[in-house]
Order: sequence, then C-alpha cells, then structure tokens
Amino acid sequence: MWTPETIRNDFPILDQTVNGRQLIYLDNAATTQMPAPVLEAMTSYMLHDHSNVHRGIHALSERATGLMEKSREYVYSFLGAKGTEEIIFTSGATAAINLVARSMSFGLLEAGDEIITTEMEHHANLIPWQEACRRTGAVLHVVPVTKEGELDYGKLEALISRRTKLVAVTAVSNVTGTVNELDRIIRLAHDAGAWVLVDGSQAVRHGMLDMSAMDCDFFCFSGHKMMGPTGTGVLYGKREVLEQLPPETFGGGMVDQVFTDHATYGDLPFRLEAGTPNIMGIIGLGAAVKYLTDLGRDEIVNTEDRLLSLAEKELRARPQIDILGSPVKRAGCISFNIKGCHCYDTAKLLDQLGVAMRSGHHCAEPLLTAFGETGAVRLSPAFYNTEDEILEAMKALDRVIRLIERTVRK
Ligand code: PMP
Repeated sequence: MWTPETIRNDFPILDQTVNGRQLIYLDNAATTQMPAPVLEAMTSYMLHDHSNVHRGIHALSERATGLMEKSREYVYSFLGAKGTEEIIFTSGATAAINLVARSMSFGLLEAGDEIITTEMEHHANLIPWQEACRRTGAVLHVVPVTKEGELDYGKLEALISRRTKLVAVTAVSNVTGTVNELDRIIRLAHDAGAWVLVDGSQAVRHGMLDMSAMDCDFFCFSGHKMMGPTGTGVLYGKREVLEQLPPETFGGGMVDQVFTDHATYGDLPFRLEAGTPNIMGIIGLGAAVKYLTDLGRDEIVNTEDRLLSLAEKELRARPQIDILGSPVKRAGCISFNIKGCHCYDTAKLLDQLGVAMRSGHHCAEPLLTAFGETGAVRLSPAFYNTEDEILEAMKALDRVIRLIERTVRK
C-alpha cells in the first residue's frame, strides 16, 4: 500500500525549491504532475516508435497505432464504457465540449430548442453553448447557484421541459469543489427526453466515473488533470448518441470514401477524430490511466478527501479568511480570500514562500460574480501531497495574514 510520502518518488518535479523554499504544489485542479511511468511511456514512444497512426503498414506505424489504441482500451475500461468506439480522443475538455456543441449546431438544434447549463460551469462548458444557441436560434438557460455554492435544483426542475435538448453540467465545481447530484440531474433530463453532458474535468480523480452507472450521454475530461500530459482529453459518448452527431471537423482519418464533390465518413470513433492525433500525448494519457488504476481509485479518493478536509478545517479556523460556498459535499478544491487582500497578492506572497496555489476567476466568472467576488485563491491537493504540506501551507498563509494586518494597520 502506498502513502503520499512514498508515492512522491514517482514525481521528481515535486523535489525542487522555489524562491529558496521546498515547493508545495497545491494547484492540482489546474494541472496535476506526471509520474515517471507516464514520462517513460512518452519517451519510449518518441525514441522507438514515433510515426503516424492508422495510415501506414510499416512496423513503426503499426507499433504507434497499437500503442495509441491500447490507450483507448485503458480509457474505455477506466470509464466503464460499452466499447472503445465510445471513446473519442480530443485535445482536452474544452475541445470535447466544443465538438459536441458545434456538431449539435450542424442540424441537431433549431430555433425553439433549449439548452440548460449552470452558473457554476467553467467557461468551457458555457461559451460553446452560448455560441451554439446564437448560431441556431436555440435558447440557453442557466441554472443559478445558491449562496452555499449548490445548484438550485428547484430552478433546474422548473427549467427542464420537452424543449430541452441537452443539459450541460459539471460533476464538480472547479472553484468551490461542489459535488453535483448527477443522478438527479440525469434522471430529470432523461425524463424530458434531453441528453446530458457531464464535464468530468474535476471529477476524474474522484471516482465519479462509471458510465454504465451514471448513464450520462456525454462525459469529458482533460488528461492533464489526471496525471497525463497537456493537449490530451477524452469525449465519451453513448454509441447511439455519438452516432447521431454529425462530424464537425473534416479531413484525413475520418473518411470512408472521398470524391471531388463529396465524401462519406468512417465509423466511430474515427469519424469524430479528423487529422493526426496527439499520439505521444494519448500514449501518456493511457499510461496515466493505468497508473491511477494501479494505485486504486478508493485509495486516491480517500487520500485526497482527507487532505481537503484538513485544509478546510484549517482555513475555517482562521477568522481572517472567507471561504467561497459551503456545499454539502466538496471534492478536489476549496477557494478562499483573505479579507481585505486581493487574491493575486495572496497567491504571489504564497509563491514567495514556495507554495503554489491558483488565483483569479478560475475561468468561472459567472460563479465568482454570484459570490460577489472578482477572484479567489484556490487550494487543490492531489494524492501526492502530504498532511505536513497542508500544515506548512497554512503557516505560510498565517505569515501572509500577519503581513496584511501590519500593512492595513499602518
Ligand atoms: N472544465 C472544468 C471544470 C475545468 O476545471 C477545466 C480546466 N480548468 C476545463 C473544463 C477546461 O479544461 P482544458 O483547459 O484542459 O480544456
């Protein structure tokens, strides 16, 4: 059995000083670090197998294709999908959501249709729907968030109707860490005949993954938030739903036959994957899935929940700190502000003390606005963080608080 202390050996990047202090990396909701097996899988591919996939019959191309398709198999069983054709590789969650939104606006949406999203979404799960509605004349509804940082389920129920074509919702907020009641949302949407797209970006490390149990129509995430490389991501879709999506990007790799005046398109998943994919990245993503699977989902979730609870308890013990939201269930991250201190100043001062935390609106401006804020500092642990690191980060925060108090008093 591993512990955060032992697992750190897999993450050489963590062993460095920043501004003369041992790095404490607590920005995992933005990007997680890659373990040695992921780096090794990508390096080995680049050294021995680098080639283009699906097009050549020479040895390198066949090896590259085999490695990439092995990654698809890892992802398919990681997600509990019904088949590898339900796994579309993209460059990230943003690309996956844009794929669905753009595709739906090529004939699946029309004036009078409705899309529902929420006030707590990352911009990546809001703007593509704004644009799809603008192009098609469909109407976008946005479910508000309560002051606790929960979705207003009453409002959601009132908004869903036979006109609703799709509900786009995050599994976990990337600001408050609110865990949404996906079962309830999916049931409501399906009763009305609507599809559900779940943005799983902040949930992939948190065990909310079983597609057969969740029954959503689409699920997406980025590789770089689950120990994989940047520039990789996944769009899962139920086969019967993906089959209804017209391709929205055209070119090599996605066709069946091509004539000068028209083309016919290939089968899933390739029909939705035009162009040369990020082969090295996808191989790294597969290695990350394998790594997480080997560590054990429950162990990862328990470790991260324990670290987050400790952080929340410590933050709550400091009267100078305002925490954004108090959801019933929180996962992955918690955001806060020191009273009277801009979040950028807090994060910059923490950085001087070796502590990496994100600050700003976290690409969720409507949610920050709902809280009456323009920004916040976000603490997001991963399973390689230790309790000592959380406590050290709190000591650093105390130094910042003392500095602010001295400055204000002057
Ligand atoms: N959705 C959520 C909830 C996120 O946290 C993020 C990344 N911050 C994204 C979408 C977008 O991910 P990417 O930039 O990797 O496409």
